[in-house]
Order: sequence, then structure tokens, then C-alpha cells
Amino acid sequence: MTPLAILKQYFGYDAFRAGQAELIDALVSGRDALGVMPTGAGKSLCYQVPAMVLPGVTLVVSPLISLMRDQVQALCANGVPAAFLNSSLTETQWNKAMAGALGGRYKIIYIAPERLLSPSMRELAQNLRISLVAVDEAHCVSQWGQDFRPAYLDIPKFVAGLPARPVLASFTATATPRVREDILAALGLRDPLTMVTGFDRPNLYFEVKQPTDKYAALARYLKEADGCGVIYCSTRKEVESVAERLQTDGCAAARYHAGLPDGERSRAQDDFLYDRVKVIVATNAFGMGIDKSNVRFVIHYNMPQNVESYYQEAGRAGRDGLPADCVLYYARKDINTALFLINRSENPAEIARNKRLLGQMEQYCETDGCLRQYMLNYFGEQAEGGCGSCGNCTGSFDETDATVDAQKILSHILRLNRAGKRFMFTHTADILLGKSEDFTDLSTFGIMKGVPRRYIRRLITRLTALGYIYDDGYLSVMPKAKEVLFGGVSVTIRGNKPASSVEKGRPGKSAAAPGYAVSESLLAKLKALRLDIAREDKVPAFIVFSDATLTDMCVKRPRSEEEMLAVSGVGRVKMERYGGRFLEILGENDD
Ligand code: ADP
Ligand code: MG
Repeated sequence: MTPLAILKQYFGYDAFRAGQAELIDALVSGRDALGVMPTGAGKSLCYQVPAMVLPGVTLVVSPLISLMRDQVQALCANGVPAAFLNSSLTETQWNKAMAGALGGRYKIIYIAPERLLSPSMRELAQNLRISLVAVDEAHCVSQWGQDFRPAYLDIPKFVAGLPARPVLASFTATATPRVREDILAALGLRDPLTMVTGFDRPNLYFEVKQPTDKYAALARYLKEADGCGVIYCSTRKEVESVAERLQTDGCAAARYHAGLPDGERSRAQDDFLYDRVKVIVATNAFGMGIDKSNVRFVIHYNMPQNVESYYQEAGRAGRDGLPADCVLYYARKDINTALFLINRSENPAEIARNKRLLGQMEQYCETDGCLRQYMLNYFGEQAEGGCGSCGNCTGSFDETDATVDAQKILSHILRLNRAGKRFMFTHTADILLGKSEDFTDLSTFGIMKGVPRRYIRRLITRLTALGYIYDDGYLSVMPKAKEVLFGGVSVTIRGNKPASSVEKGRPGKSAAAPGYAVSESLLAKLKALRLDIAREDKVPAFIVFSDATLTDMCVKRPRSEEEMLAVSGVGRVKMERYGGRFLEILGENDD
């Protein structure tokens, strides 16, 4: 079968997404490959489809147990024979899976990296034809990333020990060139096809808010929100307090952080996965293993420490391609918390680097330019003009003129630069505030006496975002600052947004199916049926059908099995298993 036929028959999709066809073709023809694609882009299919084309089995190295379980469930639901081997299996289960593997029952086997060099794996490797080894979340091999997993370094050893070298594939959503190079080198990919797709996630709505009362804003948001979501907090303490308040207020919320016992954590994760709770309140310990496709919102209750983590965490929303919200509640206080966490390190170079990354995160929060554009530029992509659909492109702010203060700051830094000095924020501000021992003769010494330091910080952040100041930890004035100093260009600073403005400006949720009216009541009935089936089969609802598939059903309103197969996400096996029951409901609502 061709890759396209497999895509249709097993996964129920009509076309490949960006990058998929190229990667699949390379792997099928025996060439190694590296796919760098954002979360939700569909990396799994890039090895699952080749696995069905190639002879023998495909081994998938995956970092998290929960991830493996979900993927295997999803594959089995689509009629693809798959299994996983990890520490969650009892001895009996392990032996059964091994026997099945040796008997050639599976096309895809997921394995934890720690198991690769175990004796039983060696035996399996000698007796099975392994055509493809796919490394998911391949950035775990990089010591530079925050997810470094030493056992990933065993992968090349394992591959070298195989009777025949399989094709090697690796996938990650991490964009930095450094990590990419690490992957290529550490895994020993040979002349790989490297496919980097764009990082834009058009279905995500980005927004930064500065609510005076974060909890009130959250409660208001949740009242309106449909579907489920994640609320990220930066500390365990905050997780506890937000989760408790939500529970008291009658919201079905679970909590998750590294300080909880394993049992409670996995229960919380399952409750979320199986839609038994609406929200999960969590630290950044939560998420790498979450492939739940119907997360409708990710709210950051605190500002995260860097843009990379933010995009990764926020990107867990809307994997199914339907509209989803990524909202960040920002308060100046968050910066202190972040600094506190950063300063816990004992490595000065690391502290300096993390502070610089924090500065960029702060710019994201302070910019009044397009948020999507900021993000894409951060990842090295050209993006011109506003996206027209993020909170900044659609919202309106209260703006205050700050031109005079901006001029003071710029001329101050300019004077220091001319004297051959570049200082960090603190020293720069100290002189402006007249609190420094040195530079007392400088004409800008003390010209901002009495002004709150945080206001100076905000303004410097703003001027950096506008390109007037260059900040790599030390501050310099850019030539462009002439515009403000001498050219009559004014600078405004953003005040708190009125709480109501954003809801008004928010784009409609109709983006899912332009030009179609999806009947809310029909969709609700289909979702209810999905939940019934999920309970009967003891799988998460999104394993039965994704939100995107149910929406497509409402749009296409299939009346026959054949028409049902045309719905995106309905493959042969799912048609046979569930199609009839959905067709019944669709038939009843044939108006
Ligand atoms: P990633 O690993 O890149 O974050 P996944 O592999 O989990 O993303 O895929 C995200 C979602 O996109 C899944 O629900 C998957 O079924 C869906 N998907 C993948 N490829 C396609 C495609 N070609 N057409 C439609 N949906 C797709
Ligand atoms: Mg993935």
C-alpha cells in the first residue's frame, strides 16, 4: 500500500500535512531523517505510516510511559497492531508483550530508552527484523536542553548492536539550532533529510493579560470556556492555592506537581485525560507526556521563565487543529519569582543566560506588537505584519505617553556607551535614581530620582522591544533611538487593559469550519455518545474520535458508511467499530 492509502485507511485522513510526505518518503526509501515540527503538527504519523509500509517492525523510543500508553491505545483503535515495553508492565504483561513481539504480532513497538540495553531487548533485537528505529522527543538526547535524558545516549549503542542497521528517524518540536545539531551528532544519523516546518500554529489564539485580580480573571474565563484546559503556575504553592480555590468554587479541577505522591499524580493526569475534570492546575512538571488532542485552553497563571518553555507549554492546546486559547496572566511580581528560581543555580554562566532568556519573556509580555510575530521571530522565522488575530492585534490598550522618560533613559545609556560603558539594568537604573556611588558627575545622574524602579524596568523593556535599546544582559542604545531623542517620535507605555476589552476583540470561534454552521446541539450529542463509548471501552474520549473529527461530522453530515469514511479521522476500523452508532444520531438530526 502507498503511504497515502495507509493514511486514509488506518488514520482516516485525506492528505498529508506540511513536511509529512517528504519525511515519510525519505524513511520508506531507506534514508535517515530528522523532523523538526511544532507540537500538534503530526510527527507521530511520520513514523507510523512508514512502519506500515516497511517490512518487519518499527521500534519507537519514547520518553514517557503515559505517552506510550496513549499512542498505543490510539494505534490499536485504528487497527494498527502495536504494543509498548516499559516499567509500567507487570512481569506477566511484559512476557506476554515480548512473546507477541517475537511472534511478529506487532508492527510498532514503543520502548523506554532505559530498556534498550536490557538482555531481553537484546534477544528481541537478534530475532526480529527491525526496519526502522524512530526517536520521538529527540531533544532529550541533548545535554543543552532541559529535558536531557541520559538513557537517550544508549540509542546509538543499541542500533550498532543490531544485525542490520535500520533506518533512523528522529523528531522534536525544539527549534534551537544547537539542539538540532546535538541530535544529528549524538544519534549518528547518516545523511539525513532534515525537515523543519514553520512554527506557526494558526489555530492558537495568543493573549497576554495583566489582571489586577488574577483569580477573578481566571474564574471569569472558566465560566465561559468550553472544553478542558491546563492552568500552569510557577510554584507548587501557587498550584495548591489555585486548585483549592477552584474546587471550593465548584470547578472540577485536579492538581499536579512534583511534590505529590506518584499515585496522586498519575490519578490527576488520568482524570484529565479521561475528561473527569475540566482543568488541571500544574507546575511545568506536567505535560511532556500529554498528547491529549482536545485541550481547548492553556492558561499561564504566572509568567514562565523563557519563551521556549512558554511556547512548548502553551502549544499543548489545540493539537487537533481546532481553535484554542493560550492566555498568559502577567504581573510584575512574576519576574521576582522567576528571578528567585533562576538565582538558585550555582553556575554564574547559567544564571546570566537564564536572565537573558527571562528578559525576552518579559518583552513578550510587554510588547504591544503582534504576539504571534514576536514568537515566530524568536524562533528565527520571518514574520511581517500583524497576524490580526492575537490579543494584541485585536485588543485595545490604555496607553500612556512616556516619551520624556524614554528620552531620559536613552540619553543616559547613550552617555554611558559613549564613555565606553555598558551596564546591566541594576547599575544603569541606580545612576538614574541617584543611588550610585559612581558617575555622580554624569548629567543624567539622579534625573529620575524617586521614580519607581519597576517603572524604569518596564520602560527599558519596552524600548528594547521597540528596537531602541539592545539588551544582551548589558544595555546599549541603538542608532534608531535618534527617532525618539531628536526625531519627534513618541513612546507609549501600556497600562492595564480594561478587563472587558479583550473578550470583545476576540475572534469568533467559527474558524473551525469557515462558511459552515456547526450545530451546537448536534455536536453536543455526538460528544455525549463519544463519552459513552469511551467509558465502555475504558479509553480517553479523544482516542475514540477527536473534537476535530466530531466537528467534521457535523459539517459533512454523513448518511452512509461510505460518506462516514470521508470524515477526517474516520478510518476503516473506527468506521466498523463506531460508525453505525454515530450514523444513527446523525440520521435522527437530519434537518
Ligand atoms: P506532534 O507529535 O507533532 O505534537 P501528533 O503526532 O500528536 O503531533 O498529532 C497531532 C494531531 O494531528 C493528532 O490528533 C493527529 O491525528 C493529527 N494529524 C496528524 N497528521 C494529520 C493529517 N495529515 N491530517 C489530519 N490530522 C492529522
Ligand atoms: Mg509527539
